[in-house]
Amino acid sequence: MSAELVLKPGKEKSLLRRHPWIYATAVAEVRGRPGPGERVRVRGADGRFLAWAAFSPASQIRARCWTWAEEELPDEAWLRARVAAAVAARAPLMADTDAVRLVFGEADGLPGLIVDRYGRQLVTQFQAAGVEAQRAVLLEALLAASGCSDVYDRSDAATRAREGLTETTGVIAGAEPPALVEVQEHGVRYGVDVRRGHKTGFYIDQRDNRALARRIAEDFRARHGRGLRALNCFCYTGGFSLALLAGGAEEVVSIDSSAEALALARDNTERNGFAPDRAQWIEADVFEQLRRLREAGETFDLVVLDPPKFASSHHHVDRAARAYKDISLNGLRLLRPGGHLLSFSCSGAIDVDLFQKIVAGAVIDARAEMWMRARLGAGFDHPLLMTHPEGEYLKGLWLERLGA
Ligand code: SAH
Repeated sequence: MSAELVLKPGKEKSLLRRHPWIYATAVAEVRGRPGPGERVRVRGADGRFLAWAAFSPASQIRARCWTWAEEELPDEAWLRARVAAAVAARAPLMADTDAVRLVFGEADGLPGLIVDRYGRQLVTQFQAAGVEAQRAVLLEALLAASGCSDVYDRSDAATRAREGLTETTGVIAGAEPPALVEVQEHGVRYGVDVRRGHKTGFYIDQRDNRALARRIAEDFRARHGRGLRALNCFCYTGGFSLALLAGGAEEVVSIDSSAEALALARDNTERNGFAPDRAQWIEADVFEQLRRLREAGETFDLVVLDPPKFASSHHHVDRAARAYKDISLNGLRLLRPGGHLLSFSCSGAIDVDLFQKIVAGAVIDARAEMWMRARLGAGFDHPLLMTHPEGEYLKGLWLERLGA
């Protein structure tokens, strides 16, 4: 007999729309004594079945739904099938790269589970009580579906604390990873530090946008007979910088405040055999450095702004908006006529319309005439589940300054 959650009257609505989260405030009663991550039957106030979910006693998100039909029991076979489906969906990407997100939590029907693949190495994050309780079967399913044998766990994300889980990292299958795992993306090689790198080591989600930056560089060279000069702000280990160099950029100036990230970026430049004098790495605060570059009269054909999450929740939206506007304005001021701006926000609390408004405000202040060429987002290994809009976090704008 499964434990049960009974919702308050009216609180069944989001579940009927298949939104996977049940907030603590929606729960009227917990029947039985479910432990963390245990499967519970969810009922409406009128007693009708709504979902099977994983119970999370410590979290504001008190349960995350697995399935919406009583006969679709989320047992081990079901979990294995979800993992296999998630891995299979990414197969087409493997032609372009071996750095791929295999499982993206709620979007793959496995709330709280993140799995990234770097070459033959898998990296996991168990970010919710439900998937934590199913570690063993999920791990087994991942090994079977991916054909990989080495798995490093990076369950050190802040979300774990909110689920009442402690941080844990280390090898959970196979061998210790090397200091740097080498991956390739559209032929560009990157070293990934899966132990200490951001997220699971690399910003896999920016793949398509790095490819776009490269294409802009290639088009520029084709049109002008010379490579463009680019500025990559918040460069981390050089993701966009190397893509631009691969596209034939003449010079790429990159800024990050982390000496450690810049050391890896330099290492990546060498790894690809790019002449070191085409890449300049500046350890600085982007907010200050953009002003210094302007004072020095520097200009660029392309500016990338890919900052860390400025708004960690909706409480920080105003301050974050000012920060996005500040860098967008100062980035725009460095753009040559005909130049391109790629501006990103990975703050889930700032939606694409607000982000566009913020950047438009910067355009107005810069008195620049700009086209929006496209809205940008994460690659398709980070799909958005339409019933879970919270899954949308990475957004970007591609702007072009008129007057080449
Ligand atoms: N564009 C990168 C990912 C950027 S992650 C890629 O595609 O791989 C954000 C980076 O911003 C981190 O490397 C962090 O060190 C850096 N950072 C954060 N605040 C900063 C600041 N104020 N000035 C400069 N760099 C900063």
